[in-house]
Amino acid sequence: MNRHDSERVAGILARAGWRETREAREADAVIFMTCCVREGAENRVYGHLGDLKTMKQENPGLVIAVGGCMAQKEGERLLERVPHLDLVFGTHQFTGIAELLEEAGREPLSMTGLNGFELGGLPLSRRESFRAWVPITSGCNNYCSYCIVPMVRGVEKSRPRKEILAEVVGLVREGATEINLLGQNVNSYGRDICGRPVFDELLREMDARFPNVWLRFVTSHPRDFSDHIIEAIADCDSVCEHIHLPIQAGSDRVLELMNRGYTKDYFLGRIARLRERVPGCTISTDILLAFPGETEEDFLETLDAVERSAFDSAFTFIYSPREGTPAARLPDSLPRQVKQERFERLQERLRSLTLESNRRDEGRTLEVLVEGPSAKNPAVLTARTRHHKIVNFPGDPELAGRRVMVVVEKAGLWSMQGSLAG
Ligand code: SF4
Repeated sequence: MNRHDSERVAGILARAGWRETREAREADAVIFMTCCVREGAENRVYGHLGDLKTMKQENPGLVIAVGGCMAQKEGERLLERVPHLDLVFGTHQFTGIAELLEEAGREPLSMTGLNGFELGGLPLSRRESFRAWVPITSGCNNYCSYCIVPMVRGVEKSRPRKEILAEVVGLVREGATEINLLGQNVNSYGRDICGRPVFDELLREMDARFPNVWLRFVTSHPRDFSDHIIEAIADCDSVCEHIHLPIQAGSDRVLELMNRGYTKDYFLGRIARLRERVPGCTISTDILLAFPGETEEDFLETLDAVERSAFDSAFTFIYSPREGTPAARLPDSLPRQVKQERFERLQERLRSLTLESNRRDEGRTLEVLVEGPSAKNPAVLTARTRHHKIVNFPGDPELAGRRVMVVVEKAGLWSMQGSLAG
C-alpha cells in the first residue's frame, strides 16, 4: 500500500511540474512515505530524518516531509520531535501535496484530516510498466486489537467497480501484464456499496475482461475468505495460484485476544478447501509472535498450525505495542529472551517448509514474469512464477517485463536458479 501511495504522490507532483531525483543533495524536497504497523519501521524513519539534519542546515530551503501512516498517527508531535521537519501529511492528504510543499517551505505544517480523499482520477508515477498496484478498498473496519491501521487509514471504503475497471483498462493499455489488487481486507470488497459486486464477482469480471493479465490480490482476511472466493480463484485462469492469508496465531485464546474473528480449526479448514479446489496453490502468511500473555502452550498451537498449514513462506514478527490500540494496554511480561527464542524456533520450521516447497519445483518448467537484472547479481535476471516464487536465470535484460518459460534447476531458500527453456 505504501508503495502505491508513493506512486500516487510522485504522480501528483510530476503533474504539478516536479521532477524526481535519487540524490537527496539535488532535491528541493525530500518525502518519506511511511508505515506505522511496527515500531521498527517508525524508528527507521527517525533515523533517516536524523541523517538529513546537516543537509537541512546547509540548505535551509530544503523541504523535508513525512507522509502516510506514521504522519497520520503522529501529526504535530512529529514536528515537535524533529525540529528540522517541515511537513507532516496524513493518509488522506495526497491530492494537495504540491501546494502543501509550497506552504511548508514558508512555515512548518501538519495536515492529517481524514476526509475527502478519493483514489479515482489521480495520476500515478509507476516504477514498473509491466506490474501495477490497484487499490480496490481503503481503510479497515476489523479493529484487530494490536493494529493501528483502522486509526490511520479510516473506515473501509470500496472503490466503485467502474473506476477500478477503467484504471485497469488504462494500465493494460500502457503495458501492464500483472495487476495487484490492494486493500487492507480485499475479501470484504463491495460490502459497503449498495448492491453488487462483491470480491469474487469482481475477480470473475476482471478475469473475463482481462484474460491475459496475471491477477493477484493482498491482503485476504481468513474470516472473509469465503467458498465463493475460493471458487472464483479456481475458475479464473488469470488469478495466480498464490494466496497470502495471515494466520497471526494458532492459539484460539490468543486469536480471540487479537479480535481476529476465527479459530485455528476454521483457518485450517480454509487452507484445506483452498488446496482441494486450487491444487498446487502456494500459501504465504503473517505470524505475530509473543502477543501479550502468549504462553508456551499458545506458542505450540502456532507451531502446530504452521505444520498443518505447510505454508510456502511466511513473514514473522515479534509483537510491538502500538499506542492507541487495545492490545497496548495489556500487560506484557514475557522476557525478551523468551520472545527471541520462540522467534528462532518458528523461523527454523518455516525455513524448512519454504525450502521443501521450493525443492518441489526443481526440474519443472514454469512460466515467469521477468522483473529485470537481479539487484544482488546484475549478471542474471530475476523473475517471479505465478506461485510468487523468485527464479534467477541468465538472460538478456531486454526480457524485462516479458513472460518466458524457465526450467528450475536448483532450489534455494529465498530464490531458485534456472535457465531459459529451450
Ligand atoms: S484486518 Fe486487522 S490487521 Fe489487517 S489492517 Fe485491518 S485491523 Fe489491521
